[in-house]
Amino acid sequence: MTTPRVAIVTGASRGIGKGVALRLARDGRHVVLMSRTAGPLADLKSRIEQSGGSASFKAVDVGDSAALAGAIDGVAAERGRIDILVNNAGITRDGLALRMSDEDWAQVIQTNLTSAFVAIRAAARVMMKGRFGRIVNISSTSGVVGNAGQANYAAAKAGLLGLTKTIARELGAKGVTANAVAPGFIETDMTANLPDQVKEAVMGMIAVKRFGTPEDIAEIVAYLTGDGAGFITGQTICVDGGMTMC
Ligand code: NDP
Repeated sequence: MTTPRVAIVTGASRGIGKGVALRLARDGRHVVLMSRTAGPLADLKSRIEQSGGSASFKAVDVGDSAALAGAIDGVAAERGRIDILVNNAGITRDGLALRMSDEDWAQVIQTNLTSAFVAIRAAARVMMKGRFGRIVNISSTSGVVGNAGQANYAAAKAGLLGLTKTIARELGAKGVTANAVAPGFIETDMTANLPDQVKEAVMGMIAVKRFGTPEDIAEIVAYLTGDGAGFITGQTICVDGGMTMC
């Protein structure tokens, strides 16, 4: 192949998305980094280029559907192809369901679920033309087994699973696969401020007796987005150290 495969990673500025971006770049992809603030994306682009990789970035709020679709259209126009889409950007607004505000519900659904739909709709058109595509949606074990205090988040993450399976059915014949990865507890900014007793309780449930890292998630994303994974679609892979065995 003359030009490298183009991979879009949302939420690439830190945490899991950053780990995925670094890994895909190491595997020879041109990685398009997306999240809200340009500074960390520019730093990551430089880091990737210093290691001999190829990257570009677009600062975009994935909660703004028009802006997100525009950014993806821009990638297609600039690079002529989109091969890989990793819908990773996500937020939490935790609280018990009976006290949850409409705003906290809507914001999490928009950022964690609707954004993935919008990105897929824009990117899949380009993938279908190339008769190749790899879509990975970063869900959560909360979306598979539920989690008290996360009605909005678990609903969005479960929604991603239905979206993944439907896209897998709609686009499989065009060479486009769609899979979901459901991480368990991964050490990032998202989990950094959880109380110690919550962390201890979670650790008690993890069979391998350690928390996960962004690299643990990047490993499976690299596999699912590879050329050799064309017969795997519509799946949810739980990467949780044996916490749920879902
Ligand atoms: P972090 O909070 O560390 O990073 C979140 C990323 O998403 C950042 O790059 C952030 O960038 C970006 N982001 C957030 N909101 C938006 C937005 N509106 N538009 C664009 N980018 C946005 O989270 P993690 O790395 O831990 O999580 C990544 C994904 O993995 C999420 O979908 C999360 O739900 C999921 N996950 C995480 C688990 C964990 O234990 N950490 C467990 C299960 C699932 P910026 O703020 O600069 O925009």
